[in-house]
This record gives sequence, C-alpha cells and structure tokens, in this order.
Amino acid sequence: MKNKTIALTLAAMLAAGVAAPTAVIAQPIESGYQEALNQFDQKAIRKIDVDRIYNHIATLSEAPRVAGTDVENRAVDYLRDEFKSYGYDVEVQPFTYVGYTEPTRIELDVPGHEGELNPGNFTYGISGDVTAGLVDAGIGSPADFEGIDAEGKIAVVQRGEFSFAEKIVNAADAGAAGVVIYNNGPGALNGTLGGHDDRFVPAVSLSQEQGQSLLQHMNGNPGAEARILVEGAETGEHTSHNVIATKHPTNKKKDTGEVIVIGSHMDSVPGAPGANDNASGTAVTLELARAMKNLPSDTEIRFASFGAEELGLIGSHHYVSELSDTEKDRIIANFNLDMVGSRDAGDLIVASVDGEPNLVTELTQKASAKLNGEPTTRGRSGSSDHVPFHQAGIPAALFIHSPLEPWYHTPQDTLDKISKEKLLDVAEIVAAAVYDRARFDNQNPKDKKRKETTVPKEAFFEQSIR
Ligand SMILES: [Zn+2]
Repeated sequence: MKNKTIALTLAAMLAAGVAAPTAVIAQPIESGYQEALNQFDQKAIRKIDVDRIYNHIATLSEAPRVAGTDVENRAVDYLRDEFKSYGYDVEVQPFTYVGYTEPTRIELDVPGHEGELNPGNFTYGISGDVTAGLVDAGIGSPADFEGIDAEGKIAVVQRGEFSFAEKIVNAADAGAAGVVIYNNGPGALNGTLGGHDDRFVPAVSLSQEQGQSLLQHMNGNPGAEARILVEGAETGEHTSHNVIATKHPTNKKKDTGEVIVIGSHMDSVPGAPGANDNASGTAVTLELARAMKNLPSDTEIRFASFGAEELGLIGSHHYVSELSDTEKDRIIANFNLDMVGSRDAGDLIVASVDGEPNLVTELTQKASAKLNGEPTTRGRSGSSDHVPFHQAGIPAALFIHSPLEPWYHTPQDTLDKISKEKLLDVAEIVAAAVYDRARFDNQNPKDKKRKETTVPKEAFFEQSIR
C-alpha cells in the first residue's frame, strides 16, 4: 500500500462494512475441503510450498527496499534470478522518475534546552548542517520577517496560514540559514514541501509542545543557538525496475490469446523492512510462478513485480503505459497481492477500485468458497498497483488483510509478524482462481460437477463495501 491515510480510511471503511449484518452469506461446501477440489485445482495448488514463500520474505526483508536504492536493485536481481531458475524468460523493465530520498539522519540540537526535541522531516526538504542563533518568526509571513533580524539565523515558525514551502522561502528571502516549523495543534508534524525549490534552506518540524518549549527556552536565553543537521535528503532522477516472468500457453493451438497478470510491488517505505508490505506479496508471486510453471494452460500468465509503488504506483503505471492497445485488450485480469501475510492484520479481502465485482473478484470468490467453505469478502480500495490496470479498463483487484496490522509502514514490519497460514491461504486462493480461467477449456471431464459446488453469485454481492 502506498499511502497511510488512504489505507487507514480503507481499514475503517472495511471494518464498518464487515460488521454490517448483511456481510457474509456463506454457503458451506458439504463435501469438504479435499473433495471440493477437482483434480485441476489440486494441480494448481499442491506444489505450493509455504516455506519457500516464508524464506523469500526472510531474504527480501533484511533491509528496507526503498525505490531506486541498492537494496531495491538487489531485490530486482533476486527476483530475476529466481524466475529464471524456474525456467522462465524474464524481462527487467527499467523506468526513471524524479523522486525524493528521505534523510538518513535528522537532528536538532539546542544547547541548554531541557526536554526532548524530536525533529521531523519535510518531504522535499534539503540536506544541510547549520549552527546559528534562534529567532522567533511568528507564522513566517513576509511581515513577520520585516520586524526581525533573521540574517544567518534559524527561524522558528508556527504552522498555519501559509504552506510549509512558503514559510521556508520567506525565511530564506530574509537571509535565514535554517527553519524550525512547529505544529499549531497536538501531535507530530509531518508535511511535504510539494516539490524541490532551489531557494530552500534546511528545515525540520517539531510538535506543538516541543515548539512551545523551544520558544520558552529562547525567551529565557537571549542569543540561544541551535544546530540543524539533515543528511542524505535528495531530490533527483532515479531509476527503478519492474520484473516480469511470462508463462506462455502450453499448447499454441489452444492459445486463447488472453493474459492474466499476477502482480505485487517489491519496494518498501524508508525505515520499514517491509516483510508484509510487500515482501509477502512478492514472495507469493514468486512461489506461484514456481508452482504453476508446468501446468497445462491455454492462457498466458505473467508474474510481475513492480518497483516504486510506495512513491505513487510508478512502476505499475509505467508497465501499463508501455502496453499497446492490443496488449491491453489481451489482459483479462490483474491479481494484485499487497500485504498478504501479517499475523496481526484482519481477514483477507479482495478489493476492486470501484467496489464492484469483476472477473478477478468472481474467480477469487469461487475459488475461496471451494477451498475454505466461504467466499473471500469483497471490498473497495485504490492506492495499490491494481489501479493503473483498472484505469486501463482491465478487471483488477487487490488482495489484502483488513484491518491493517499496527506495524504498517514502521520498522516493526518484520519477518516475525508473518503468518505462514495466511500466506498459504492467499497463495492457494489465487492459484485456484487463476487456474480456473487459465486451464484448457473443456479439459476437465467433471466441469459440470465443479459448477455445482460453486456458491451462488448473488451471495457474494451482499458484500459490497462503500
Ligand atoms: Zn504495499
């Protein structure tokens, strides 16, 4: 998932939706788990080895895989080599974007100040090391700076009325060498400057409480100084990659010309090892590629891993934008696996962008009903790599557990929070759903019987969450 706010809103929406009395009309499958599976479902899922999935996550989550960094590049190499070892032809698709690298170090030292100061960064803030006297610059308006001497100083500014970027530029215009912006309400201050500006000087944020404490210190200590240190922040052109392995139909004569894309993003946010977000989806994609390699199929299956999702779905947007109209028409479904293994998250949902059922949700609910006795709950969500596919008119859906785990986008998103049970459940459902469509038509002599074990469609549609 790319955006905390959206994701949490989603979680809240889903929590409300799931609690609705009309939520689940499950149709128990009387014949039981094994009997409910026909031989072809079993073919698709019996090779799945959850320990392999888990071990991929262990390898991938050793360090944060931030887009455009060496660690993400290592993930690209790992995925390429794994796909190749299964016998696939692999395409590594590079793409560039202008991106911001978060600082590796950010400090605010105020000698003599008592109490903690926990400076935050502004996205697009610049690196720098400034030691200077502190000056109170109100809300950072041009008028505020007219009345004070900010030349060479660190301006302390309250949030409000102007954008953060404007405050920093106003301070720089007045000759300030650095800026501290403190919140005007409770809580930490996380903000963006909207983009790079050559006029910026190093700036950090503080909570309201810490900002007021700093002002108090300044009032009691005329000439008080501070040091702002920001290291590693950078705005510039970066390169990331998508990795795509293709399983061609096993019999050219029976090729339907249709393509199913199973995808997931490999990158993570800074500071988060991203075991669940999204080494989990990446690892399941890898294992599905291995397990499904030799299945007889009349449909092309692409196993895709996208880069730079956390920066705005950049890799998947690039992938879709490079497809010709003919190629777009051939793709009939996108299964997007993003955060599919946290032991501390809620139940699995399959979420389309518009909340409406589509081929992906239908195949998924059919498969999960057979495997688990009840269909996976449907939901609605954007903010992941199924969005560009949806925008191109391709049926697409996100697989995610909801509500999200508390470790989402934190350094605690680590291997020890991963549930093998959840990983296996998702892998089996997706394998069975994809293979339901990708296997040869009329291949299964028991096709009729298989349809009878399907939960009636109407039951699923109660689930729509808005
Ligand atoms: Zn994600």
